[in-house]
Amino acid sequence: DVSKGYILYLEDISVSFDGFKAINDLNLYIKEGELRCIIGPNGAGKTTMMDIITGKTTPDKGSAWFGQRLNLLNMSEPQIAEAGIGRKFQKPTVFEEHTVFDNLELAMAGDKQVLSLLFAGLSGEQKDRIDEVMTLIGLQDCRYERAGSLSHGQKQWLEIGMLLMQNPKLLLVDEPVAGMTHQEMDRTAELLNSLAGRHSVVVVEHDMDFVRSIARTVTVLHQGSVLMEGTMDQIQNDAKVKEVYLGE
Ligand code: ADP
Repeated sequence: DVSKGYILYLEDISVSFDGFKAINDLNLYIKEGELRCIIGPNGAGKTTMMDIITGKTTPDKGSAWFGQRLNLLNMSEPQIAEAGIGRKFQKPTVFEEHTVFDNLELAMAGDKQVLSLLFAGLSGEQKDRIDEVMTLIGLQDCRYERAGSLSHGQKQWLEIGMLLMQNPKLLLVDEPVAGMTHQEMDRTAELLNSLAGRHSVVVVEHDMDFVRSIARTVTVLHQGSVLMEGTMDQIQNDAKVKEVYLGE
């Protein structure tokens, strides 16, 4: 089985928009428990790649496997989410009027179970899980605060926490530190590092110092395919990569 040991296996994926190849024979292999950073100049295809993984965009060709068994190209967006791929968009979307605790509770219930939760209340196990995630994202002291009153960084962590309530196997995170202070960035690096192992994490990010602080392997996308893969040191010393970024 070729895809063994990989949580995500994309091979020869291409997609065109009006004849323009946004993704061009893309290969991406993410190991279970890995924390991978994806970088690349504007228009490189990073967003389109995430859209393909989550079922928002269907490629023209190629194959995409999640774990050993699930063919992502045969699955709808909700089916893919249900199977364990969580996506965090750049802008935080939390329920501003609700408390931190309630945000996590709502996220755990999802759309389907919200009513039964309202009637039956939380089990001890569910409360423990919320407490565990609240501590992980560093918001244990804000449990009764309205999400709307949190700082930008805290909202981002809360949204990561909300994704965690669904127990995703793979987390896709889009530019998590945009607009954050240095301190918040350090805290985010810690958080993402602590998720790796238990989850597989793919982070799209522009801030190179941040990428350096989290990634073991970095993938550089350019014109819809992988230009290079390696450690941050290998990438920053690569002539092809320098050329691509100088053109920005
Ligand atoms: P990135 O996220 O790396 O900046 P994108 O995936 O957003 O890159 O875009 C890759 C290329 O595909 C860009 O040139 C963009 O203009 C084009 N593109 C993306 N989505 C569409 C679409 N729905 N229709 C037409 N062109 C698109």
